[in-house]
Amino acid sequence: MSDNLYDLLASRFPSDRSRPCFLQPGLEPVSYGDLEDRTARVANLLRRRGAVPGERVALQVEKSVDAVVIYLATLRAGAVFLPLNAAYTPAEVDYFLKDAEPVVFIQDAGAFVAEAAALDPDPRVEPRAASDLASLIYTSGTTGRSKGAMLTHGALAANALALHEAWGFSPDDVLLHALPIFHVHGLFVALHCAFLSGGPMVWLNRFEDAAVLEGLSRSTVMMGVPTFYTRLLANPGLTREAVAHMRLFISGSAPLLESAFEAFEVRTGHRILERYGMSEAVIITTNPLEGERIAGSVGFPLPGVELRIGGGEATGVIEIRGPSVFSGYWRMPEKTREEFTSDGYFITGDVGRVDPDGRLWISGRAKDLIISGGYNVYPKEVELILDELPGIRESAVIGVPHPDFGEGVVAVVEAESPAPDEASLIARLRSQLAPYKTPKRVVFVDSLPRNAMGKVQKAQLRQTWGHLFK
Ligand code: AMP
Repeated sequence: MSDNLYDLLASRFPSDRSRPCFLQPGLEPVSYGDLEDRTARVANLLRRRGAVPGERVALQVEKSVDAVVIYLATLRAGAVFLPLNAAYTPAEVDYFLKDAEPVVFIQDAGAFVAEAAALDPDPRVEPRAASDLASLIYTSGTTGRSKGAMLTHGALAANALALHEAWGFSPDDVLLHALPIFHVHGLFVALHCAFLSGGPMVWLNRFEDAAVLEGLSRSTVMMGVPTFYTRLLANPGLTREAVAHMRLFISGSAPLLESAFEAFEVRTGHRILERYGMSEAVIITTNPLEGERIAGSVGFPLPGVELRIGGGEATGVIEIRGPSVFSGYWRMPEKTREEFTSDGYFITGDVGRVDPDGRLWISGRAKDLIISGGYNVYPKEVELILDELPGIRESAVIGVPHPDFGEGVVAVVEAESPAPDEASLIARLRSQLAPYKTPKRVVFVDSLPRNAMGKVQKAQLRQTWGHLFK
């Protein structure tokens, strides 16, 4: 067995290969044996198309079991898997194709797998070293060119093993999988934990609260982005009884509101386990499985992860080093050098602090830091206070150009109806915040703009509200 990630995953598949891997509502289960057979045939087809070690295989499709088959087959062939969001426009895709130069680009997973079904299964798994590339993940890149984070077989394996252990996965687990699979969360974090446990997944091609609630009655673990939890909370079917079978709810990819954490506990008795990760390192920190999970903190570094705060202040940019950290940005050696310190820590761009117990608290992205009149304003500090005020569902605090202060603080607010009025909100905030931190304007929106992973798009908000003080 080499360090090919596929070998590690397959070594944990159940010895009885007729056991189910994918359970989909209204469809026959797909067994581990089926999965192995299909990936061997697709690997055969991929090899014939030139997907030899090091070459890239790009996939831009809607979520499906076939897409997972193509992912695993790419690993088997030793090629590099490049998933692309199905929502990308042709112009966006064009950039990725020119940058990554894949030998195979698949936009119809079903047709590709069907074509491979006519071929013999190729039982080989290409030997790979831990330092060989397994996947290229383009960052969502809200500013500048999107960068391809290079993740190796060794990095993905190290992270998968650490998570499987940290979250207590066993063959009895049934993972509810409703996440997209063009992103590390659904693709690596969720799938690898399930494969290492050898248990089945309740497989949903999208998040839909009624289907998820139905699936929870047969599952033990769910991984979700925070919007999954707020949507479940909006459904009266979310009750203790509905989740009686569940042992663990995990959240990440964007900050989980403390109000959602608390409401979820009241409704279900479960304290959501929040963790923190990114394309460049998969998962970095997690709240504990045993021990207290604290709302607002993303927990402790995973074993093997070294984490520190750069800049010499208590709050600053989070820097990390460890086995799961990526090996650089694809064809961007300059950019890669800029984002690592001389002693090999990756500068994440997230701002946070570590409390005396060793728990990490994230206060936002460095590039979202507001500098108003020469003072630093951390949006999270203002958002936390705003979110506590009556009538506020969620807020996003941004800085936009201001003639006197350089940047002026603006709060964009999703309010309940009737919305509180702007002047009284500002007055409430002024009683709790220094004047330079207090928003000069509060604007109301029906819903904050989010990407597919539920992250609020602050760059978009800065653009929309950039004229406010002009
Ligand atoms: P991506 O590379 O698209 O997965 O985005 C990674 C970014 O998501 C991180 O750098 C953080 O800014 C953010 N993120 C992920 N998990 C959390 C979390 N639990 N709390 C706050 N921010 C998070």
